[in-house]
Amino acid sequence: MLRFVSAALAATLVLLASPAGAQTTPDYSAVQIKTTDLGHGTYELEGMGGNMTVAVTPAGAILVDSEFAPLHDKIKAAIAAISPLPVKILINTHYHGDHTGGNAAFAAEGALIVAHINVRNRLISPAPNALTGAVPPAVPAAALPLRTYTDTTTVELGGRTARIAHIANAHTDGDSYIYFADADVLATGDIVTLGRFPNIDVANGGNIKGMIAGSDAYIALADDNTKIVPGHGPLTNKAGVIAYRAMLATCRDRIAALIASGKSEADVVAANPLADIAVKLGADSTAAANFTRLVYRSLKPAN
Ligand SMILES: [Zn+2]
Repeated sequence: MLRFVSAALAATLVLLASPAGAQTTPDYSAVQIKTTDLGHGTYELEGMGGNMTVAVTPAGAILVDSEFAPLHDKIKAAIAAISPLPVKILINTHYHGDHTGGNAAFAAEGALIVAHINVRNRLISPAPNALTGAVPPAVPAAALPLRTYTDTTTVELGGRTARIAHIANAHTDGDSYIYFADADVLATGDIVTLGRFPNIDVANGGNIKGMIAGSDAYIALADDNTKIVPGHGPLTNKAGVIAYRAMLATCRDRIAALIASGKSEADVVAANPLADIAVKLGADSTAAANFTRLVYRSLKPAN
């Protein structure tokens, strides 16, 4: 359990991009799981960590992401309030601890964990975080996906289908999105993070270019009625992803221009090129500097 908590803290440290030293142990006991009915037996669950999506079927539930290990009982209770059947399939959008912390506990109750092959690889041996140097501890074998895929796959349960597809080198190198066509619900993983600067895990294969390409894929897939569950932040729609994609492209273009003019990473951070975007997001200067560094490293990798 302690190993899971430390992994969770490492992930939170990066995701919140808070100043060093400002971290405190999350109070999981205070977390309440909020359930939003998206229609057609499909729900969004929000607690602490990545947003979750649940598809209820007559053969059990399909759950997308599992937040932190200490929240398992609360997540399970929230699902029990919408279906008497347990989670049979757990799909991970990527390897980060705030999306996979509950894996072992759900697997112990019979859920098959499904993810891109690089989720399994990164859970076994993650690279140190690019900004903090923190290395998430290895997770127990029980938390690893047993069914992996590389390009696209589908999961079928109780007459419902989850379409799963990989977006290369975006938030990480193992990102999946999950689309429930019958409910017109799209779970994006952290390629879409709203209300703050997203994280790009460049040490584990993430890249701003893939974040934008992934957003483009979501815009192409969605219509105006599609309900879009982002990795973090409020439920959104196609228009919301279009605006988010434009923000990402602006960040990329400004930092690419500074790189083209010969600026170092320190120069680019000092130029504070995302100040206006930080104001719009309500993000502090540390978060803006961190995101600037991650975009810089995406566009101009070391070596
Ligand atoms: Zn993440």
